[in-house]
Order: sequence, then C-alpha cells, then structure tokens
Amino acid sequence: MTFIGGRTSVLSWKLDGLTLVLRYEGGALRQAITRGREGLVGEDVTHTVRHMRNVPRRIPCKEPLEVRGEGVISWANFQTINHTLGDAYTSPRSLAAGSVRKLDAREAVKRPVEFIAFDLISDAETWNTKRQQLDFLSQQGFDVVPHVLLDAREAPKDVRHKIESMDPAGYAYPVDGLIVEYDDLAFGRALGATGHHENRLMALKWQDTLYETAFRGLEVATTRTGMVSLTGVFDDVEIDGAIVNHAYLHNLDIFMELALGPGDKISVYRANMIIPQIAENHTKSGDCPIPSVCPCCGGTLKIHKSPGGTRQLYCENPDCPAKLVRKFVHFCSKTRMEMEGLAEQTLELFVQRGWIKNFGDIYELERHRAEIVAAPGFGQKSFDRIQSAVDKRRTCTLNQFIAALGIPMVGRHAGRELSRHFHGSWAEFEQAILDGFDFTTLKDFATLCGTQRKSLS
Ligand SMILES: [Zn+2]
Repeated sequence: MTFIGGRTSVLSWKLDGLTLVLRYEGGALRQAITRGREGLVGEDVTHTVRHMRNVPRRIPCKEPLEVRGEGVISWANFQTINHTLGDAYTSPRSLAAGSVRKLDAREAVKRPVEFIAFDLISDAETWNTKRQQLDFLSQQGFDVVPHVLLDAREAPKDVRHKIESMDPAGYAYPVDGLIVEYDDLAFGRALGATGHHENRLMALKWQDTLYETAFRGLEVATTRTGMVSLTGVFDDVEIDGAIVNHAYLHNLDIFMELALGPGDKISVYRANMIIPQIAENHTKSGDCPIPSVCPCCGGTLKIHKSPGGTRQLYCENPDCPAKLVRKFVHFCSKTRMEMEGLAEQTLELFVQRGWIKNFGDIYELERHRAEIVAAPGFGQKSFDRIQSAVDKRRTCTLNQFIAALGIPMVGRHAGRELSRHFHGSWAEFEQAILDGFDFTTLKDFATLCGTQRKSLS
C-alpha cells in the first residue's frame, strides 16, 4: 500500500496561529489581510503586520504576488509576555490573533508575533513543485514553515518514521497537526476544492492520550495584574517520559465546570503534547470551593468578566504585594537603577516569599541570604551576583533615584529637573513635599500637570 497514492508530497507543520495573506506589488508590501472565513472578507491588518519583525517590507521579486502564512507567537515568548498583560490569553493562538487584529501598531511592536510563510499565489507562477515554491519564498526573505519531503518510492515504515520525527515538543511554535501536500503543484490544482477545503491538502492530527489520576488540590496565586491564577494539583502521572502533576486552569469557568474536589478521579493529557490539561472529572465531588481570599494579601477576591465572556478571579487591593512587582521591576531596570540579576521573575519570587515588600528591602537582601541561596534555581553564586549589583548602586544621583521610583508622570526628564531645583539633595526634596511645595512652578511641570488634568476630565 502506498501513502497518498504513491505521489511525492511535502510534510510540514500545521501552525496554530492566525492565517494572513500578504500582497506584494512592485516588490513592496501593499496589504495584509486576515484570511476570511467562508463568504467573509478578511480584515485589513496592514498597520500591524508591517511592524512584525520578520515580515519583509520589500522583496526582490517585482511581480505582484500573494504570500500566505501564519502569524504565530512562540511558546517561549508566550510564557514571557502573557502574564504581563492585563487579561491573560489562554493560548499563543489567541494572543497572536488578538495582537494582530486589535492593537495599534505601537502596541503590536511589543508583542513578538512572527510570520511563517507556507503558500504562494502568483500569476507569473513558474514553479512546478511545492519545494521550489517554498525555496523561492525563502530566497525572498520569508521565514518558511519547516518541511520534509515524502518521496513516492519510500517504504511505508520510512514515511511513518518521518511523520513521527515531527514532534511538536521539539518545535518552538504552537502547532495543531501536520499538513501533507502534493509536491506536484499542477496535480494538486487539478484536484480542485470543495467549499473551504482544498483537496490538494491533507491534515493529520495527533490524538490526545488520556491518563487517569487523582485530584489533590488547588494552588492559588496572585499575579502582578491582580488576576488570580488557579492550578490543579494531582498525583504524578508519566506522560511521554515526563512526570506531570499539575495543570493550569485558564479561567474560573473551567474550574467550576470541572467541579473538582480532593480525591476525585480525573483524566489528564498534554495539549499539543506539551501543556498539561485536565480533560475530565469522573467523580465531580465539587468539594473545592471558589477561592475567596487573596493568597498574597488576604483581601477579598472579586470575579471579573473578560471581554471574551470568561470569568477570572481578581484581587482588587491596590497595595497587594503581588502588584508591587511591577514597581520593583521598573526600579531595578537597566534604564533606572540598573541592578543586574534582579529581573522580573526573580523579583516576583522575592515578593511572593515576602523578602521584598518595599524599595528599602532591595538593599537588605543579606537578611534572607540563606533562604535565597536555597531557593530553586538560585545558589551562592547567583546571590553574590545580585548582592554585588545592589552594592554598586548604594549611592546614586537624586535624579536617577526619583526616576526609578516610578511616580506617575515623573520620568528621567522630570527627575533631572527636580534634582536641579533641589540641588541633588533628597532631604531638600522630601522637605518640599512635607511643606506642600507647588511643583507646578517648576519648568515643564505645569504643562505636565495640565496634560494630566485634561486626560482625567
Ligand atoms: Zn492581594
């Protein structure tokens, strides 16, 4: 028996993002639209796609052509930026789609959406095979979807081996299957299309294998935005060689739907063979109540509904230490106090453990030396590195310090002006605040305050 009629074909990832169509004319990017669903016209997203880092704005080919591909966010970038957003996204796909479609260009630049090309439509088409077409796209400067050739003469076991070697766990971008396409483009075209489905393509999906285990409890953590994340903890299960014992529950609705309780028999799997998920709760005892207090500050939690209609728990306490991480990240950043080693994740951990509650605590980490050295991922070396970075900044200029505090509307420019006026003295500056000094009398401050008032009214 031969695989897909004994014809040579190209096997590639089925990327899980937002499909985009890029039009080039005279070698310049003219328009980018999302692929419209049946009967629907796509949305014009040229303003954001133009700013995607790996989208060429000019290409060598001057003929008009249409490049199709997927706007995707890598797993690594998804983990890094998702929790910095007010309303966390449940998947890289929804984050990529939201970023490309909704944002203004300046916001889009901050979100690392990448374009991976997989198809080309051109009137001046001179390629006979899919491989030639993909090579051409690559020569024009596009990142092209990784692919392998399945030769017509290959034995079924070799084909199977090639398919199995496409392991999504080893790929940087989210995928939801594989695509097999005839290498002979003319043959593929002759097969036509039925509705939305093109007959030259075949999609292969992996089946999620379910594993039974017992639910143990819920881990509750407040994130920097105040959103409270829920993670289900269960007995160890081995999936594809990895021990899995917890699954992030993306929102409150999922938690309530599962009606979890300690001891419940549950089925779990790894979505796209990577992310652990709870598929089902077979006993639904519902003994786990909805968390009512913030694990960080003890404040009462509220339920917020996202624009997408899903519900999340939030801690509304503006002084909740979990939210202070943002301030500390700003304080320690490269352009402020420049404390190397005190990056976001480290600060988040230090705040969670209660080692940093205010700016002063950053300078007194020595008190927690033993605990920090013993913390996962740390050690004597990393503690020393942090300590020396802090020591280097024990003295600094007043303007630098003020700018680092993150006072609304007071950045480096205002910091310099304040430092000039108060002769670089913290004592003078502090006294002025206590005396009710009118800061609007300072150069540029009146306009700043004016703008602020305007934006408030
Ligand atoms: Zn709180």
